[in-house]
Amino acid sequence: MKRSSIKTWSTPVADETSLPIPCALCGGTRFTTQLCCEGFSYVRCTECGLVQMNPQPLVTDVAGRYREGHGDAYLSYELANEKSFLRLQELALEDAGFTGLEGALREKGMPSVLDIGCATGSLLEILRQRGWAVRGVEICTPSAEYAQLVRNLEVHTLPLMENHFPAGEFDVVLASHLIEHLNEPAAFVGEVYRVLRPGGRFLVTTPNIAGFQARLFKSRWRSAIFDHLYLFSIKTLSKLLTQAGFTIEKTVTWGGLAAGTVPVLMKRWADRAAKRFGFGDVMLIRAMKSGVNA
Ligand SMILES: [Zn+2]
Repeated sequence: MKRSSIKTWSTPVADETSLPIPCALCGGTRFTTQLCCEGFSYVRCTECGLVQMNPQPLVTDVAGRYREGHGDAYLSYELANEKSFLRLQELALEDAGFTGLEGALREKGMPSVLDIGCATGSLLEILRQRGWAVRGVEICTPSAEYAQLVRNLEVHTLPLMENHFPAGEFDVVLASHLIEHLNEPAAFVGEVYRVLRPGGRFLVTTPNIAGFQARLFKSRWRSAIFDHLYLFSIKTLSKLLTQAGFTIEKTVTWGGLAAGTVPVLMKRWADRAAKRFGFGDVMLIRAMKSGVNA
């Protein structure tokens, strides 16, 4: 088995300043060690169970990694995997009932979507073809430029908070494999809530620390990487969302075992079981901003 074939793209561990922080979900300061990786480690909050990298790198350093540092390498990685990532995203959205949601929205007019961390914009391009008004946020400049120039998409290169989108601007906000990279996930979720219209939906995808692979591989889990500041479970991500005012509508997980680690038939069995019982490697939560016109 080649480890490189299943490891998620990650920034090499750098000698950056890092500071201890309280729990980003409940403010607690008591932790137990969760995972010790090479050059960084994760702790679990004894109060709420959130798993976070601690100490944590600074916001400016984290943004710098994607903006300038490894932007070109990241674009190459995105382009090389674009088709498989898009297929996975489409399947996940399907499982989360996106088609039904889309149909209901279309009856009312042209639905609007914001894809945060949209990379090269492949999903936005598909949604535009399906009649959506699409916008993206991507701080990795080479990827954003690709989306702008090659796909002619409106993509903003500042982090979500700095774009100051009007309140209630979007019907749907998507964030796939993004929230685990952010220093302040609670502030991020609060801003998503603000820019959604009442009744709008947030579909957020992230690795699942309570999944089978995380339990099996521990510090060698493919999502235990320097770029991932938080490793959520359905429980902790749901709490983050409900704290901001969201109602959880649907949760799906998928991915039992990584390709190449076991025989194909065993992988198929594990994938089906993981999906059915909620211990898949990646999860998607669909949440609604409460309000009228749902
Ligand atoms: Zn906590």
